[in-house]
Amino acid sequence: MKLLGVNKMLFGGDYNPEQWPEEVWDEDMKLFEEAHVDVVTLDVSSWAALQPSDDVYNFEKLDRIMKMVTDHGLKVVMATPTAAEPAWMAKKYPETLKTEAGGTRRHFGGRQNMCPNSPILRKFYAAMAGKLAQRYKDYDNLVAWHVSNEYCGYCYCDTCTKKFREWLKVRYKSLDAVNKAWNTSFWGHTYYDFDEIVLPDLLSEEFHFGGEEWQVKSNFQGMSIDYRRFMSESFLECFDIEKAAIKKYMPDTPVTTNFMGGFEQFDYKEWAKHVDFVAWDNYPKFGSPESDTSFWHDLMRGIGGGESFSLIEQTPGVSNWHPYCALKRPGVMRLWSYQAVAHGADTVMFFQMRRSIGACEKSHSALIDHAGTDETRVFREMKELGAELVKLGDATLGAVAKAKAAIVFDFENWWATELSAGPSVDLNYLDEIHTWYKGFSDLHIPVDIIGTADDMSQYKVVLAPMLYMSEEGFASKLEAFVKAGGNFVTSYFSGIADRNDRIYLGGYPAPWRDILGIWVEESDALVPGSSNSFVYEGKRHECSIVCDLMHLEGAKALAVYESDFYKGMPVVTGNKSGDGEAYYVGTRSDRKFYVDFLGEICAKNGITKLADAPDCVEVTERSNEKGSFVFALNNSDEEQKVVLPYAVRDLLSDKTHDSTVEITIGAKDVLIGKKI
Ligand SMILES: [Zn+2]
Repeated sequence: MKLLGVNKMLFGGDYNPEQWPEEVWDEDMKLFEEAHVDVVTLDVSSWAALQPSDDVYNFEKLDRIMKMVTDHGLKVVMATPTAAEPAWMAKKYPETLKTEAGGTRRHFGGRQNMCPNSPILRKFYAAMAGKLAQRYKDYDNLVAWHVSNEYCGYCYCDTCTKKFREWLKVRYKSLDAVNKAWNTSFWGHTYYDFDEIVLPDLLSEEFHFGGEEWQVKSNFQGMSIDYRRFMSESFLECFDIEKAAIKKYMPDTPVTTNFMGGFEQFDYKEWAKHVDFVAWDNYPKFGSPESDTSFWHDLMRGIGGGESFSLIEQTPGVSNWHPYCALKRPGVMRLWSYQAVAHGADTVMFFQMRRSIGACEKSHSALIDHAGTDETRVFREMKELGAELVKLGDATLGAVAKAKAAIVFDFENWWATELSAGPSVDLNYLDEIHTWYKGFSDLHIPVDIIGTADDMSQYKVVLAPMLYMSEEGFASKLEAFVKAGGNFVTSYFSGIADRNDRIYLGGYPAPWRDILGIWVEESDALVPGSSNSFVYEGKRHECSIVCDLMHLEGAKALAVYESDFYKGMPVVTGNKSGDGEAYYVGTRSDRKFYVDFLGEICAKNGITKLADAPDCVEVTERSNEKGSFVFALNNSDEEQKVVLPYAVRDLLSDKTHDSTVEITIGAKDVLIGKKI
């Protein structure tokens, strides 16, 4: 990411002075300076204040805020306030409000509570974004635009229904093609007119599996996947409308919106093509594995084509919406900030700068707490981090990772695996991806996250765990990759369906049978209490979730099941083809298996680890024109030893460490070493 006039990692975040009496503004400026804050995100939530009626706009207060932060040397990320419509607008235009999957039109309230296809709202979005850009275009310190806020929530209103029909006409050209794509002859759901098509909501084709609200399944997955594509595009159109209005006045200033990492509703890979840089909000649950968060950072870097990204929100201390709002322990805010940087972030930004006095985020942490003082633990930790980022300067800006291994992550595949019932309620796309990712993380081997359409030629190893759905042509791409010397690894529940969730006929995984050299005849779900196992390279490993029953068609069995009626059948296979090899793992196994299995494949292909370090120390590397930087993050509560293959200078302590000597990293501490 490139921001004009920015020569260090920006440090700051959401600042909402309009929610406070002006008497505290001076105090804010003093405390920001003390904490080394150099950027504020303004205007996220002020639509009602800026536009009290259809044609009346009032920017007087925002003018004063802009002048104040500019006078104090702060950079500005200007938000458009369009995530929450004003109450007057909802009252006057009730059709702008979202309709839920249960058919209920919502009342005014909350945020992202609007229909993405409302022509009225789209007009207002363009007007607001354009007026803001026109008014503040001459501020040199306005370094980026942040459109709306955390887009989310599908709409099921009549406007969306009509637009979905039009969208289908463009995509499929004919109703016959729609019927075929969705396999509507099943249950006799054939359509004879586009107007017969209604949205797949909870009154039509979707339902809560087992009565659990978090499990939405569909009778017709092809239709539900199309609806998700349509919704993702509908919201993206809203973004594009605002972006175009801004670009009219500020063509060179980058425009983005804040993604939410592990958020399922939209295809962020598609969205990333529309933003000028990727920015995301990182709010891991207390106790969630650090490697889960690393994965989301790597995904955000991956969707942006490997470019650096913006950590645009995280909490300084406590998040207030988790079931248990545990505090970030001392040192963790700093550690997680550097974790983002280690994976590609060029900014360290927070929600928020001053804690809200009321409403739903009054308990959410901020740089300046309700006590209004610099004498809090959170303020002190932020101030120390702010000083470190000043010291780091522009050293790591724009640095990229150079991985030789990649994992395929596919948003549509995530939808498809969630929408289908079976083979096990424990089947979970994210868990499967995280399991494999954790293997690389434990090995200290960097990995990129890519899509099925991305170029694979730069990688020696590509994984596509649980890639149930893939497009026609992906198989031939895999074949070319393997024959040219690549190593492909996939797992159970892969290569099953096309992009409309229609099964590839001819035995699973039909399009990949040749390259994998296997045929999967059946899949057995392991019910609670049941188990199976296999021995790989002399070590016993457990099976879980499902066990694929497969036949060899040229592949070699690398491990076989040890029990049940399929005892002796292969569970792990390898198939040499051309100069490469394709592997299949027909079950979910234990952590040790993935380390051993991936370690062996990487070793065979000359992919080396970045450091000798225990699992609890995360190691990454980024490089730019200034050099290579290794990040070693100690997630544990005890000091740990790390050995690097080259000498480094620690950019934070200025100490030099020779290669092959043990470097001690304190509890929750971080080493940022520049290769020398
Ligand atoms: Zn709608």
